[in-house]
Amino acid sequence: SIVVTGATGHLGRHVVAQLLEKVPAEQITAVVRDEAKAADFAARGVTVAVADYNSPETFDGLFAGGDKVLLISGNEFDKGRPQQHKVVIDAAVAAGVALLAYTSAPGSLNASLVDDHRATEELLLASGLPWTLLRNGWYHENYTENLAPVLEHSAVVAAAGDGRVSSASRADYAAAAVAVLTGEGHENRTYELGGDTAWSFAEYAAEIARQTGKEISYNSVPEETLRNILAGAGVPEAFAGILADVDTSIAKGELVVDSGDLSRLAGRPTSPISAAVADALK
Ligand code: NDP
Repeated sequence: SIVVTGATGHLGRHVVAQLLEKVPAEQITAVVRDEAKAADFAARGVTVAVADYNSPETFDGLFAGGDKVLLISGNEFDKGRPQQHKVVIDAAVAAGVALLAYTSAPGSLNASLVDDHRATEELLLASGLPWTLLRNGWYHENYTENLAPVLEHSAVVAAAGDGRVSSASRADYAAAAVAVLTGEGHENRTYELGGDTAWSFAEYAAEIARQTGKEISYNSVPEETLRNILAGAGVPEAFAGILADVDTSIAKGELVVDSGDLSRLAGRPTSPISAAVADALK
């Protein structure tokens, strides 16, 4: 089978939907925490398995020899994600899966946010399993799903200076994952994934202005200011710090990914940020 963890998450839903276009539903297993959230998958004939990264025993016997597994990184930052991911890796080793692909972060990114990903990569490479690293760059949606404050204040606020971001849609990253899961020859390869066109925050502000007919400026602030703005808006303090730290990395160019791996794997040009802005404004 092709097995996808985090299947009811935003990225996981794209992956399952795109897999259904390529392989029979019986060949797909969605690993979920909450079975009720996966009712639509079950209705389409996808096998639904319930397991939690925090409970190793829930992964006992879940995988079979020869499976291709996509481990979608978790989002519980305070629960020790490398250890959570190791639960999946250990179960995959026990079953003898054919491939374990992991959604990581760009090799160029040095922000604290990537520590969990680098630690997981090390565990995976030490496991002896055939692996694929899908080093996903930033999602368009990280920005375009947060347009409300931009429109309210007529400003894009970031601590990224003139830095550029090669973001891409979750759907495009999912397409790359599906290509790896359904194709051949991806064992022990690292893909640096990002959108074809890197944009600056000034350009992003200009694009929102163009599509809304409003004046939108780019307000580049120091990292500490952004941290305070985010915390003031209700983002938990530790996470506000992590996000502001990412902007400093962007200012240094660490989120520019120009490998071309994403469009090559997806077999098409990536969808531009302008399309994600248009979707968000609908
Ligand atoms: P989501 O937050 O939508 O999805 C996270 C998924 O992980 C959910 O399906 C969630 O299950 C599952 N999960 C979390 N904890 C556990 C657990 N203990 N056991 C089993 N499953 C668990 O994120 P996205 O789909 O948008 O992105 C996927 C991952 O990529 C994120 O989890 C994060 O690691 C990373 N990410 C990347 C970004 C980027 O720009 N490249 C931006 C943000 C995150 P459930 O559906 O039950 O909640």
